[in-house]
Amino acid sequence: MASIVVVGDGPGGLSAALFLARANNSVVVFGTDNTVMNFAFLNNYLGIEGISGTDFQTKARMQVTDAGVQLVNEEVLSVETTDGKFVVRTDDTEQTADYLILSEGKSMPLANSLGIQITSGEDDLVSVDRDGRTEISRLYVIGRSARPTRSQAIISAGDGAAAALDILAELEGKDVQDWDSPPKD
Ligand SMILES: Cc1cc2nc3c(=O)[nH]c(=O)nc-3n(C[C@H](O)[C@H](O)[C@H](O)COP(=O)(O)OP(=O)(O)OC[C@H]3O[C@@H](n4cnc5c(N)ncnc54)[C@H](O)[C@@H]3O)c2cc1C
Repeated sequence: MASIVVVGDGPGGLSAALFLARANNSVVVFGTDNTVMNFAFLNNYLGIEGISGTDFQTKARMQVTDAGVQLVNEEVLSVETTDGKFVVRTDDTEQTADYLILSEGKSMPLANSLGIQITSGEDDLVSVDRDGRTEISRLYVIGRSARPTRSQAIISAGDGAAAALDILAELEGKDVQDWDSPPKD
């Protein structure tokens, strides 16, 4: 079981957390429900009828909590790497993790503090591979942070899933799928 911290409770961070917790890892998500999803009304999320972003977030938060994710309603103030681990600090908490996923949204002070943010044109962005891996081992940046010009909820959720499966593959030493089939009665 790996310890994984996710910073950011929008669709990207929550999606990553869901996959990781379903695979029985210890997953903590930091976020204060301040996502821009609260300004959205989703008519373009495949498989879901029109729903307010706030209602989507309520369902998503419940889903990840039911899967075993610990949602911490606090802002992360700093992250650092020490002895191959990540140390994440809020005003009240210090959490150490084997893996760190940053899903900060449009602005990225934490990614910037680790020296991986770059600026391109009007947007801040981070260079990642297709699974969200950064140049720092076991650090992922996903969602709007990694794709400022492709800001759609379903894209962020997909980014989170890809990063999670990449972590699970590394932990297992082989590719991993998260597949369920309907129950047989
Ligand atoms: C007005 C409006 C309408 C939109 N309509 C649609 C739409 O119809 N369909 C659609 O697909 N998309 C829509 N979007 C875009 C959609 O909201 C984004 O694509 C989506 O929210 C991106 O998800 P994300 O997880 O990448 O980032 P975000 O949703 O931005 O989530 C980042 C989260 O991280 C948290 N965070 C950041 N730093 C910290 C920290 N240090 N500690 C703790 N938490 C932190 C933030 O508070 C936030 O909750 C709309 C956006 C806006 C503004």
